[in-house]
Amino acid sequence: MRKVIVLLSGGMDSATLLWLAKREFEKVWAISFHYGQRHSVELKYAKELAKLAGVEDHIVVEIPTYRSIKGSALIDDRVEVPKGEYPENEPPITTVPMRNLNFLAVAGAFADSLGIDHIGIGVHALDTPYPDCRPEFITSAEAAINAGSVLVAKEKRRIHIWAPFLGMTKREIALLGKELGVPFEKTYSCYMGTEPPCGECPTCVQRKEALEGIL
Ligand SMILES: [Zn+2]
Repeated sequence: MRKVIVLLSGGMDSATLLWLAKREFEKVWAISFHYGQRHSVELKYAKELAKLAGVEDHIVVEIPTYRSIKGSALIDDRVEVPKGEYPENEPPITTVPMRNLNFLAVAGAFADSLGIDHIGIGVHALDTPYPDCRPEFITSAEAAINAGSVLVAKEKRRIHIWAPFLGMTKREIALLGKELGVPFEKTYSCYMGTEPPCGECPTCVQRKEALEGIL
């Protein structure tokens, strides 16, 4: 049986991934993280989305350690969230160091213990300024998870990182989401964590462009 655990932030990409997972897999779990992010309000949206998608279970994991890591606008209150578009070729100030490595490791632990053979992550072609969203990182993380997995060692099965949006733009994800019936009005992405969203931070700008004419 094909099973997947999907990393769900509550934003439009991971919501689309969750809806795609419902179409592609027989059993679907969702996992979200409270890591002291400025926009922890996103977890409220993640919970609602997981409920609407009818997942087997929605696991919410606390990683409080991140609050003591300095320098990222998403976890350090002294650093301001920038306005406008992402920088082209360098890690933005909103990078949370090793975030996806931590998320994938924890999801890998649940996959191992629950016998789930896929971990879904919604990284896409426009995420490449973030080092831990690049294809080479995903490949390396998959290798590490398989090397350290009890499931793999015992049952000679592999755990796959399922990242179907790697070659897709955010607009293409939005169009796929529309086709899948993703309730985009119930997704949330703003780095400021305000309700309604600020409309000016990099992720608000990207989201607005991607969903134009759809939402
Ligand atoms: Zn915003």
